[in-house]
Amino acid sequence: MTILILFGPPGSGKGTQAAKLVEKYDFVHISTGDLFRYEIKHNTELGQKAQEYMGKGQLVPDEVTVGMLKNKLEKHSDAKGVILDGFPRTVAQSEALDTLLDETGNKVDCLIALNVDDEEIVKRIKARGKTSGRADDLDESIIRNRIQVYKDETTPVYDYYDKKGKSTKVEGVGSIEEIFNNLCDVIDQNL
Ligand code: AMP
Repeated sequence: MTILILFGPPGSGKGTQAAKLVEKYDFVHISTGDLFRYEIKHNTELGQKAQEYMGKGQLVPDEVTVGMLKNKLEKHSDAKGVILDGFPRTVAQSEALDTLLDETGNKVDCLIALNVDDEEIVKRIKARGKTSGRADDLDESIIRNRIQVYKDETTPVYDYYDKKGKSTKVEGVGSIEEIFNNLCDVIDQNL
C-alpha cells in the first residue's frame, strides 16, 4: 500500500488537493480534522473531547488522535494507497504511525509539504470561514494560534521524514491545477 503524507499549514490547500489526488490515483483520503468534525457533528464522546481542543486551535492529544487514525487505517487495509491529510502533526504521532505501519509491513513513501506564507494563510482561512461553518476558521486569534501550533509542534514532522530522505516541498501558491500537477510529478517519482 502506498502511504503519502500531504503536509502543510492550515489553509495551505491540503484538503482541496487531496480530493483531486484520490480521484487520480484511486487512493483513500484520510483527514483527521474531517474525522474529528464528523465525531463532533454526531456528538460522540470522542467528538466532545476533540471539541475542547479544536475550539481553541490546539492539538487534540496524541493518544486520542492516534487511536482514531489506527481504526481508520485498519478499515482501509486493502486500499491501493492512502493520502494522510492533517496527520501526523507531532513527532510522537510520526513515531506512532511508523510503528503502526511496520506492524502491517507498510511504510510512509513520501511527505509532500505545501509551502504557503502566514498572511496568505490567514486570508484564505478567513475566506473559507464564510462558507465552511467552522468556528476555528472565523476568529483571527484562533487562526493565528493554529499557525503558531503548526510552527512549534508540526514543522518537526517535516524534518523527521526529511532525515529519512522522504520529504519534498511544493509551492502552495498558484492555480489549483498548477499545484496539482507539481504534486503529481512528485508522487509519480515516488511510486
Ligand atoms: P484541520 O482540519 O486539519 O485543520 O484540523 C482542525 C483541528 O483538528 C486542528 O486545529 C486540531 O485541533 C484538530 N486536529 C486535526 N488533526 C489533528 C492531529 N493529527 N493531531 C491533533 N489534532 C488534530
